[in-house]
Formats: sequence, C-alpha cells, structure tokens
Amino acid sequence: MKLAILKETAPGETRVAAIPETAKKFAALGATVAVESGAGLTASIPDDDFAAAGAQVGSRAEVLSQADIILCVSGPEPEAVSGARPGALLVGALDPFRRSAAIGAYAAAGLQALAMEWMPRITRAQSMDVLSSQSNLAGYKAVIDAAAAYGRAFPMMMTAAGTISPARVFVMGVGVAGLQAIATARRLGAQVSATDVRSATREQIQSLGAKPIFVEGVAGIEGEGQGGYAGETSDEYRRAQAELVSGHLAKQDIVITTALIPGKPAPRLISDAQLASMRPGSVVMDLAADAGGNVEGTVPGERAERHGVAILGAVNLACSLPADSSALFSRNLYNFLSAFWDKDQGAVILPPEDEIVRAITLTNGGRVVSERLAG
Ligand code: NAD
Repeated sequence: MKLAILKETAPGETRVAAIPETAKKFAALGATVAVESGAGLTASIPDDDFAAAGAQVGSRAEVLSQADIILCVSGPEPEAVSGARPGALLVGALDPFRRSAAIGAYAAAGLQALAMEWMPRITRAQSMDVLSSQSNLAGYKAVIDAAAAYGRAFPMMMTAAGTISPARVFVMGVGVAGLQAIATARRLGAQVSATDVRSATREQIQSLGAKPIFVEGVAGIEGEGQGGYAGETSDEYRRAQAELVSGHLAKQDIVITTALIPGKPAPRLISDAQLASMRPGSVVMDLAADAGGNVEGTVPGERAERHGVAILGAVNLACSLPADSSALFSRNLYNFLSAFWDKDQGAVILPPEDEIVRAITLTNGGRVVSERLAG
C-alpha cells in the first residue's frame, strides 16, 4: 500500500496528517509512505525528519501517483487530488455538510472518501476520534487566549502592594473542550464554575474542582441525545437556564462557551442584555463561533466588543497548536487505518457493514453513498 500525505491547502490550516512517528508505524505495517515536500513545515516538522523516518519526500504529483490511501487534515480541493487513481481512499476531516460540491467531485473521481469527523462514539473508535483530540486542545487554548485578552491576572496573589483576587471563570458546555477548559483554568488558579444540559457532567465538573451550576426541577430536559451528544432543550428549560445563568454571569470575569448540538445551529446561551450585566474588561470566548455562536454579537475569527466586554469568536483553535494537534490527528488516522489493516493481504480492508466504515464512508464506486448526506 502506498500512503500519500499532502501539504494542506485550506486557508489557515497549519496541521499535517502524519508525523515521523506515524510514518514509521505505517512503514512497519509494510506500507510505503510518501510525503509532499513542505507538508510538515507549519507544524515544525522538516522534510528531513520525514525522510529519516523512512518516508519518500516529493512533489504532489509524485506523492499522489499510484497512491492507495491519501491522508489529509482538511479536505483538499478536488483539483488538488486530480492525479489520484480511482479507487484510492481519501481520509481526513472532509467537512461533508459544508463541502457537498467537493464530496460530489471526489465521487466523480472514483475516490472512496472517508470523513473522520463522523467517527461513531463507540469505545472501539475512541482512539480514532479527531473531534475529541482537536477539541481537547481547543479547550486548553481557549483559556490561554482568554487569559491573554484579560487585563487582570488569573490566580490570587498576595503581594506587598496588596492582594489580587482570583479570576472567576464560567464554562458553558462541558463536553471534551469544556472539560479541558475547566482543568486549564483551574491550573491557572481561577475560581471555576460550569454548566451543561447533560446531567452526567455534574460529577465531572466537581471532580475537576469546579462548581456545577445546574437548572433544577424543570421538566423537558432532552439533554442526553444520541451517542453522548446533547439534544435541543424545551422552551421551559431554556427560560429556566437563562434566568439561572443571568444572575451568575454578572459575577464572572471570563466565560468560555462550547455548547454544540450536532447538525443544528449552536444554542444561544448569552444575550446582549446579559453581556451588559458583566463587568467591563470581562472576556467571553465563544468556541461555537463557527456553528452560529453561543453568544449574541460573536463574529467568527474576530474580536468584537460590547458594553466593554470582549467577545472572541474562536475558529479552529487546534490550528494554533499545530505540532500537538498534528500529532494527535495523525495518531487518530493511524489508529483507524491500522485497525483495518489485513496483515496477510498487506492492505486496508474496509468491510462495508462495519459500524465505523458505514458511518464515515461518504463516497464509493463513483457515487455519494452516505445516508446522512442523502438525507
Ligand atoms: P459537543 O461538542 O457536541 O458539545 C459540547 C457540550 O455542549 C456538550 O457537553 C453538550 O451537552 C453541551 N450543550 C449542548 N447544548 C447546551 C446548552 N443549551 N446549554 C449548555 N450546554 C449545552 O460535545 P463533545 O465535546 O463532543 O462531547 C459530548 C459527550 O460525548 C461527552 O460526554 C464525551 O465524553 C462523549 N464522547 C464520547 C466519545 C466516544 O465514546 N468515542 C468520543 C467523544 C466524546
């Protein structure tokens, strides 16, 4: 099997789909690994390191020629993989809902496109889950960026010139990113509280030394949706949540929002009136900016300001930690492909009925075959 690792072309993309460690591991499975020259530079990996790991480094055309598997982080423009042979696998975060034209073009080119972000949330697939690995880093970086934008310190400091009180950090949405945000803010010495619609998160919040803020006694919580994801809440719940959160928000210095509902716009958690109740100089970091935003006034990729409160519209924070995010993403790809590696045939065999294969296969045999895309 020949594996091709492309230099990413999407704007702002800094990651790479293999690191020398995974290149070596693929070689140990018997694969030939070809890396496009310069592919690792933005993640601080020189071509020489890939070559030392046994990979062939070459031009895009050389790398793509006769490749059986093409690895990417963001989905490439179809023209960028036009040299690929029909039947090759294209594996990466292909963003299927927003890139339907590109997915159609992959099908027309005969590629079998596999969307890593549609990995099912089952125990077997945990080590292959790019959403988790990248969200974890995003949760960390959200706190670091918010701290940098905040004009005060995080920890309590007792100095000869007086005491600095600790920052109060509120995390809304306690999934993978939210949990890491809580842990990071705690490490920096902040007083941390957090909320979610899924009651299972209450204990997780407490175990990290933060205070859970939860709506009590309201019927209609549908927060335990499929596969560990949240569903939409009832109107009554939303009203109770807004009331509870309003009182709490006014006392916070930093708010990190991470709430997402798969396939739906992000839930609106903070209104303009609530922002106005916050102390000037406070910072709100909206990790759901790309999905419509949890905060009124969020501009994706930009810093906005309302009532003296900075609103940071975070977009793809994992790209700002390219060395670590590439390492984790690459291992997710290796864990996926190696799980389907048939040693006797020396090839990746994807049984069409396998739960993972079904969930992530977008195109096959010249057609778009994903039920989610068809529906
Ligand atoms: P996510 O990114 O879809 O959402 C982030 C958080 O926002 C979730 O906790 C969600 O409950 C919360 N949220 C949604 N609407 C909200 C609202 N109105 N108010 C407050 N919070 C709201 O979630 P995620 O980070 O991907 O993880 C969700 C769960 O799935 C976690 O428990 C995680 O451990 C689990 N998970 C399991 C696997 C696996 O088993 N392979 C992989 C990844 C995640």
